[in-house]
Amino acid sequence: MPSGYDRPTMSPTLPAQLARDLTTLLGPDGLLTDPAERLAYGYDNSRRQGLPLAVALPTTAQQVQAIVRLCRAAKLPIVARGRGTNTTGASVPGEDALVVSFERMNRVLDIRPGDRVAVVEPGLLNGDLQAALAPHGLFWPPDPTSAAYCSIGGNLACNAGGPRAVKYGATRDNVLAITAVTGTGELVRFGAPTTKGASGYDLSRILIGSEGTLALIVEATLKLTPVGASGGRCARCTTTWPAPPPRWRG
Ligand SMILES: Cc1cc2nc3c(=O)[nH]c(=O)nc-3n(C[C@H](O)[C@H](O)[C@H](O)COP(=O)(O)OP(=O)(O)OC[C@H]3O[C@@H](n4cnc5c(N)ncnc54)[C@H](O)[C@@H]3O)c2cc1C
Repeated sequence: MPSGYDRPTMSPTLPAQLARDLTTLLGPDGLLTDPAERLAYGYDNSRRQGLPLAVALPTTAQQVQAIVRLCRAAKLPIVARGRGTNTTGASVPGEDALVVSFERMNRVLDIRPGDRVAVVEPGLLNGDLQAALAPHGLFWPPDPTSAAYCSIGGNLACNAGGPRAVKYGATRDNVLAITAVTGTGELVRFGAPTTKGASGYDLSRILIGSEGTLALIVEATLKLTPVGASGGRCARCTTTWPAPPPRWRG
């Protein structure tokens, strides 16, 4: 029986004018429309597979704003993509969607060791960040097992965390500020780039873990931690406790 939610049987296509506008905006290699290339952006570690209408590869926050405005005018859904390692299907696009891949926005913008702060673009790999921080004796605590190939944007959107979360918290506890593009293409900034930032609503906490449903993250200011005697890893407890004093033995 028809449900009323049945999708049209004809495959949707990217509107020609939108394709032209996006190519003008991003350059000829900034918009992927070949089916073979699109296929590579249609999966994640959930093992589900979709085929987006096109893939946009922005290099600046302003380009992300323009993409959102163009897609909003064309009523085209957008799916953000880091490196597709999430296991929930969160980055698998519908066949009527445009994928915005952040792989070309992968720069470390600033490391301020004295402030224990790093400012990064969302496409930077977690592992590359850790390598950039190591010479400063600092690390960023979130350590999903996929760290070598997952992006900071994906970590933020999933509120990722590995074993170090026990001591340092997950991603949400290690972010000071976020710059993001809303569904209307507005650039917004949440949080403060300082460890002490008490004024105003803390909207970054709702953005972290929202899996790309509220806004597209284009920059993050991360809270860093000094590498300690444990090398930043969870130390295995090897302490041998002395025998309790006689009065505790009952
Ligand atoms: C081998 C393996 C081990 C893992 N281990 C862990 C673990 O120990 N702990 C843990 O928490 N997770 C783990 N994960 C899942 C983990 O959450 C992801 O690996 C990682 O956080 C996702 O990053 P990504 O760059 O691949 O993002 P993607 O998978 O591409 O995207 C994940 C979500 O983030 C959104 N997104 C991506 N970039 C942005 C952006 N810039 N703005 C807005 N939304 C965005 C996407 O739309 C999607 O909803 C593991 C995955 C694998 C494959």
